[in-house]
This record gives sequence, structure tokens and C-alpha cells, in this order.
Amino acid sequence: MIRHQGDEDRLHSRQSVEAAVARLRDRFPLERSVMALPSDALAAYRRLINHWCDTAGPLATDALGSENLHALLAIDAVVDQSGQLGCYPFSALPTGIQVQLGNRSVHAMCAIDALAVSRVSGQASQIAASCALCDTQLALGMQANGGLRETMVYETAVIWADETQACCSTNACCDTLCPSIRFICRSCTESGSQGGEVYTVAQAAVIANAFFGFQARLRNLEMG
Ligand SMILES: [Zn+2]
Repeated sequence: MIRHQGDEDRLHSRQSVEAAVARLRDRFPLERSVMALPSDALAAYRRLINHWCDTAGPLATDALGSENLHALLAIDAVVDQSGQLGCYPFSALPTGIQVQLGNRSVHAMCAIDALAVSRVSGQASQIAASCALCDTQLALGMQANGGLRETMVYETAVIWADETQACCSTNACCDTLCPSIRFICRSCTESGSQGGEVYTVAQAAVIANAFFGFQARLRNLEMG
């Protein structure tokens, strides 16, 4: 029966991950909106993702033609962050979640976004963040294929808390949804005081790679 209990756990874990991916796509239909873009805007989006992956930095807002920029802003695929273009999973502004790519460092929009950076960029990475509840320093290593390294995996989890609208924020996902998806430490998971869903980092990495996998596919496409 022990084997069946293990099967039950795996099934439950898979269902929880699938539900989270569906909920995330419902809340923020990024892939669907991007893939429905006119080809010029899609090419501009691809250029922006490539730039983030290759340089670990943003393009200026005026680097894209105004038609493409408006098309991307309209679906919240990019965010004008003080004249620079944030582009999920990458933020042009600090978020408290940093991802080291080689000797460079980027800010991730949220915890799930941080876990997607390796898969999207095809590079190994190192995530550094503090626990959203108690400030304990957390670190995670990711392999170039988007898989997790063992370090600190069991000391860290991801919480998806209920969204709270901040007074000065915009309606952009990075101001509404992203602040609610953070890393927390193991002892805060066990304290049980937090509201919202909690995922292991292994589950969150699967969610991240499912949600952002289209960007890696887009990067690998031959486009004229
Ligand atoms: Zn904590």
C-alpha cells in the first residue's frame, strides 16, 4: 500500500502543478496573447527577449517602433519601467529577486519568473532572494535546461498569496500579480500563518517552465 500512497502523492502533486499553470494562464494569458501578435510585433518581442538573455539588460522603450511598442504594451507583454522595457520574466527595476547569469545579474518579476530564466535563456543561473515573510536569505541554482540544482531546494518554497492592490500601482501584471508570488523559507512554510497556495520549488520550476517555455521555443525559431 505504501507504493500506492506514493502514487497518490505524485498524482496530487501533478494535479496541483497543472491547476497552478491553468490558473496562471487564466490570470495572465501571456503566451496566447503573444502568439496572436502580428508578425512584426512578434519579431520585436523576440528581439527583446533575446536582448535580455544575451546582455542581461533591457532595451530602452524607444528602441522598438511605436506600433510594435503599443501592440506589446496593450497585452502587458512588456512594461515601461522608467524608460526601459521590462519583459516577463525580466524586470528593469529591482524586485528583491535576483538571478545571476554568468557574471551578470538580472531582476526577475516574481519567484516563478526567476525559476524560468534558465529555461528561457538556455544558461545556468543562480537565484538570490530573501524570504517574503522573515527576510532569511535564500539561494537556488538552476541548470541550463531549467532543472534545479540540489542546493537549498528543501529550505525554500514558493508562495502564491492573494493579490492585494497597492495604492499607486498600475494594472500591469508586475504591479498586481507578481508581488504576490514570492520565495519563502521552510520554517515560514511550516508556521502555517500565511494565506495562499504554497508550492515546493520543484513544483514551481515545473510551473515556470510550462508558462515560459514558449519563449525558449520562440528564441529557437528561424525567423526572417
Ligand atoms: Zn521565512
